[in-house]
Amino acid sequence: MRILYVEDEIRLAEAVTYLLKKADIAVDHTTSGSEGLDWALHGTYDCLVLDIMLPEVSGLEILRALREQGNTTPVIMLSALSQVDDKVKALEAGADDYLAKPFKTAELIARIKALCRRPPLQAERLLTFADLCYDADNRTVNGVTLTAKEAELLEHFLRHPDQTQSKAHLLAYVWGSETPAPDNYVEVYISYLRKKLRAAGSAVQIRAVRGLGYKLIWEQDAAAD
Ligand code: CA
Repeated sequence: MRILYVEDEIRLAEAVTYLLKKADIAVDHTTSGSEGLDWALHGTYDCLVLDIMLPEVSGLEILRALREQGNTTPVIMLSALSQVDDKVKALEAGADDYLAKPFKTAELIARIKALCRRPPLQAERLLTFADLCYDADNRTVNGVTLTAKEAELLEHFLRHPDQTQSKAHLLAYVWGSETPAPDNYVEVYISYLRKKLRAAGSAVQIRAVRGLGYKLIWEQDAAAD
């Protein structure tokens, strides 16, 4: 389980992050609202925990931007003020839950787990691109079974099919910031995944874009280049 946590109060964030990790929840933390929005848009998270009061881009602005773009990742909003007004605004903007500060981290963990247990929308469990059909429930692509990391990589590409993914991004999103993985992990797993795509009889390629990263290309697109 991986969550994104946007909180500008460093000490609080460190304490909460420590306890979440102890509860086996991988955490990507940032103090910046704009960075948080960027990560939320480009990453694959089970849940987002957003503080409302942030210096530049607020938690509510992040939430609205995500929902406008069709992102349905569960969101828990945090607010220093347990004002009804804040709660209403958060829920109206598409938050799934709301927690007033100060809160017990155990309660936050319980709520994160409750949200992640909810069955995701059916449409999100089957991801398609050209001749690929990925089934997130069974971790299979065109019937070929993927390992957990191969699946996370492929799912990440399929959720952002038009984007070139940098190695650093992939490393952070698949292996997480808390466990430094060797740089060549991405290359190694991309090569595993390419083999699986060939085994799946797909013409989709994971193309290396020099200096930028990797992108999904369908062979017919490639021929037209
Ligand atoms: Ca704050």
